[in-house]
Amino acid sequence: MKEIAVFPGSFDPFTYGHLDVVKRALKIFDKILILVLNNPRKKPFFTPEERMRIINEILELEGLLDRVSVDYYKGLMVDYLRQHEYNLVIRGLRAVSDFEYEILQAHANAKLCPEMETIFMFTSPEYSFLSSSLVKELAMFGADISKLVPEPVIKAINEKLERETSNLSGGE
Ligand code: ADP
Repeated sequence: MKEIAVFPGSFDPFTYGHLDVVKRALKIFDKILILVLNNPRKKPFFTPEERMRIINEILELEGLLDRVSVDYYKGLMVDYLRQHEYNLVIRGLRAVSDFEYEILQAHANAKLCPEMETIFMFTSPEYSFLSSSLVKELAMFGADISKLVPEPVIKAINEKLERETSNLSGGE
């Protein structure tokens, strides 16, 4: 099958749960495009550029750059899909709470862009609890997040938190 599927999300930051979805989706699709979007419901920790850079570093470490790429779009996902003539979208499902949000999104997107299809992948059980918000909360309390996110995320979080601390203390 010669298909490209788009995996959209905030990825703020990218976690092992996201990586697991990408790797499993590569068993079905030739190529995956990770599309970084702004979710107006969420206050971002990393800028879209930082998120893209982190994801690219992870893909390089994982040897996936030949089949997985990253892009950012500041507008509506369906507009991006139309502009690039993509029509397959992958989303991950962890719990019933995800389902309610995801089905509304999928139906709204289908109305806006009838030619697109959303394909859902269940989380692997070991990542069913894992979210970007959990990672940020734990990191802010200095917890070990090495089992939740790849190394480039840990580095970027530490750098950002250090910068914020030095800004707060007047750069001393
Ligand atoms: P969004 O703000 O669009 O929900 P996220 O970065 O939070 O963006 O999630 C992107 C996609 O990845 C969503 O479909 C989400 O359900 C899925 N996802 C997030 N964490 C996991 C995980 N641990 N396992 C499987 N899917 C996940």
